[in-house]
Amino acid sequence: MNQCTICKRLDLLKSAGDTAMIYEFPHSYLLLGNHQYFPGYCVLYYKQHVRELHELSPEIQAALSKELMQATTAIVRAFNPWKMNHACLGNRDQHIHWHIMPRYESEADHQMHPWTHADEFDSCLISPEQQREAIELIRFHLQ
Ligand SMILES: [Zn+2]
Repeated sequence: MNQCTICKRLDLLKSAGDTAMIYEFPHSYLLLGNHQYFPGYCVLYYKQHVRELHELSPEIQAALSKELMQATTAIVRAFNPWKMNHACLGNRDQHIHWHIMPRYESEADHQMHPWTHADEFDSCLISPEQQREAIELIRFHLQ
């Protein structure tokens, strides 16, 4: 039985929806991040349970890269960040996904990696209304 946390979330998304859902690409789902410490923080999940990027065919690698860039461009247009950070780690959740993190010069440690203040992420949870607004803004710029 697949115990992957990401697969479970995607199964639930397909059956019941997910309030964080922004957009379904051919090979991935774009969801708003569970916190907004970085306004516009999103996660892009590959639809299939694959652990490593290099295990994908070159065609899928290229298609996923295109989807990642479409998502990134929309986030940049929506939030006008100083810099974009992409993290594809998967040490804990071993299913291809990217953390797409807009960074802002107003952050105290904007030149540091995005997890420098991870202990503060939970203080930046957003209301359902703020979530809907952020999703609509990103969707608008995906057009
Ligand atoms: Zn998985």
